[in-house]
Amino acid sequence: AKDDGRNNLQLYTSTINSYAIERLNMENNLRKAIDQNEFFLHYQPKVDVETGKVVGCEALVRWQHPEMGLVSPNDFIPLAEETGLIISIGAWVLKSACLQNVMWHHVGYRDLSVSVNISAKQFQHQNIVEIVSKVLKETGLSPEHLELEITENCIMQNMERTIAIIQQLKDIGVKISIDDFGTGFSSMAYLREFEVDKLKIDKIFIDSINHSSRNAAIVASIINMAHSLDLKVIAEGVETEEQLSLLKTYKCNEIQGYLFSKPLSAEGFIEMITESKTS
Ligand code: C2E
Ligand code: CA
Ligand code: CA
Ligand code: CA
Repeated sequence: AKDDGRNNLQLYTSTINSYAIERLNMENNLRKAIDQNEFFLHYQPKVDVETGKVVGCEALVRWQHPEMGLVSPNDFIPLAEETGLIISIGAWVLKSACLQNVMWHHVGYRDLSVSVNISAKQFQHQNIVEIVSKVLKETGLSPEHLELEITENCIMQNMERTIAIIQQLKDIGVKISIDDFGTGFSSMAYLREFEVDKLKIDKIFIDSINHSSRNAAIVASIINMAHSLDLKVIAEGVETEEQLSLLKTYKCNEIQGYLFSKPLSAEGFIEMITESKTS
């Protein structure tokens, strides 16, 4: 019993050590992944609620590690963010997504737009505006076909800079949407200051709109508020017809979710569009 304290301490430090080692290991793996091009993209359709047509997609990064297999972005984006590696991963995602969209335009799908997630670190990077305009130049994508998703919490850091950067991005001609909307701390007063185009309501609210009148009321009022500010609204994580039909009555503009499609490979995405056109 006398030794208990010491044993606990040993257990504790060894847990910390193995955590630190694990983390370092993961960081090394991430660096290798960047060098060896282990990333690829999936594309999840965004659907216009009124017409039922696919208007574009969200690019979502995937990591295929030779031993670990497919690693979910939730398991590496936070570390990439902490270590700064998100800057090169994010640049790769942005360029690849734009290139893919240009190719789709070339084969006839000229109206498709692509959304790309921009992490807080990327958005706070001093060259974010140059990075975006350079990618547009290099890939030849027209700016109105690129939508940048910036999380609500990200825009609430350093507001003055955020307002200026969003303005500069708008001047280039790209679209801006606020991701994970409803989970952060922005308010209507602030929203008016940002020149954004769209709010993306977080899945958390969509999950329970048919069972929680409170969440349904929140979603309905987010949509009304957005429309009164001339913003469009997209709902993420739509999984059921019931959710879709409520969102329709609330006049939500676009939906994204498993109800319509999971994220797909580039080939799968174009196949899906072709099929939904002919059926
Ligand atoms: P997010 O931006 O909120 O993306 C939506 C996530 O929800 C995606 O997970 C998508 O596959 C998933 N999803 C979409 N519809 C449904 C649905 O109906 N049901 C359920 N259960 N899930 C649905 P994913 O691809 O695993 O990405 C997770 C998060 O990782 C993203 O959340 C985003 O924060 C981050 N992420 C993914 N790709 C990138 C990227 O290229 N750059 C950055 N910075 N972050 C990324
Ligand atoms: Ca997103
Ligand atoms: Ca989101
Ligand atoms: Ca989300």
